[in-house]
Formats: sequence, structure tokens, C-alpha cells
Amino acid sequence: MRIPFPKRKVTRTVAARELAILEATYPQAATALEYQDPFTLLIAVILSAQTTDAGVNRVTPVLFQRYPTAQALAGADLAEVERIIKPTGFFRVKSRNIVRAAQAVAERFGGMVPSDRESLETVPGVGRKTASVVLSVAFGEAELAVDTHVFRVAHRLGLTTASTPRGVEEDVRKLVPREKTRFAHHWLILHGRAICKAPVPLCARCPENQLCPSVPIVQRALRLQRAQPRRRA
Ligand code: SF4
Repeated sequence: MRIPFPKRKVTRTVAARELAILEATYPQAATALEYQDPFTLLIAVILSAQTTDAGVNRVTPVLFQRYPTAQALAGADLAEVERIIKPTGFFRVKSRNIVRAAQAVAERFGGMVPSDRESLETVPGVGRKTASVVLSVAFGEAELAVDTHVFRVAHRLGLTTASTPRGVEEDVRKLVPREKTRFAHHWLILHGRAICKAPVPLCARCPENQLCPSVPIVQRALRLQRAQPRRRA
């Protein structure tokens, strides 16, 4: 079932109330990825593509015990890395990416993950979203990574109408105090995973349902879906 997003943004007042509800609902806003330092976080984030954080957490203890530093992973045996991270899916591409990322960090940055976006995005496998996660989680920067959950929930709440992750990032940033920007990413992700799910959000259980502009849109989509079999009959 495809649920359209609201066509208009909510007012700043409503947006502030929606964000306050998210903040109160998810006070534990933090990454679920387990890591020890910026390097292990970077590798965990790259591995988290197309899989769950829990799935990543199941393989990283073995990976980091075997290859605890950028220098160690830079010289890793690719077949062994593939074997260790296989459960995370896309393991051949991910293995190449994490070894190349480790080589870049070891050779160009002395084994330390750079703390500025420009340098970070030169590391293989690191795009804007991954860099934003590392900068906000490892270095406490006011960055907002936009993944599929953040994109969907921000749209459903009427915080944005932007068509690109970058546009969503800019819209949400304008609504969140700078010191809370890095937490907003987690509020939206946690809400997307627990309640505002794709494809069917659980609006009846949602603390936003008195404010959210998507409630009537979701109800209409559900009515249409229920009517479909009768129409075909
Ligand atoms: S009310 Fe429904 S659509 Fe709006 S945020 Fe909650 S679950 Fe998502």
C-alpha cells in the first residue's frame, strides 16, 4: 500500500510540538550500533547498509577482535573479512568497502578517522549519510543523517516536503535547536522503526496522532485498500 505524503508542511508551532513529543518519547536517543571508537563506528555504519543494527552487532565483535585498528583491517585477508561479515548481506561489496576505508584511514589519516566532513567523504564507502552519522555520533557534531526512516517520518509529520534527503535535512535542521540536531536523527529513526512504519503506520498507537497531518491520509489509504477486493468481486 502506497501512502502519499502530505503536500504541505505543518506550521512551525505544530512542528515544534511534534518534535517535543518525539524527544519525550525517545529520551534514549542514541545509535544501537556497538562501537569502541570513531573507526569501529565508521566500519559498523558502512556494514549497516541494507541490514539491521542488531545484525551488525552480531558480527562486529569478531571483526574488531581480529582487526581492531585501521592498520590491521587495511591489511586484512579479504576472504576472511567476507566470511566474518557474511550475515550482514552484500558481503563482497561491504568487505571491499570496509578494507578500502581502513586503507584510506590508515594511509592518509594516520589511522584516525577525520572529524571534518570534507575529509571523511573522501574515504571509500563514505557518502553524506555515513559521514553525518560518524560526525554526530562519534564527534558530537550538529549533523542530521537522513536515511529511509528519517525521510519517511519527517514527511509524514509534515516537517518537510522536500524530494531529496539533502532537502529533508535542511528543512528539519531549521526546526530543531542546534544542540539537539544530532538527537533528532535518532528520534525520527526510532519512531519510524517502532510506530510510523513503512508501509503501514500505527497511527492509533502514535503519540503524534492529534497533530500529524498524515492521519487522514493514512485512514483514506486504508479505506481504499479495504474496498479493493469488493470492487474486483
Ligand atoms: S500519526 Fe501515523 S503517520 Fe503520523 S507520525 Fe504517527 S504513525 Fe506516523
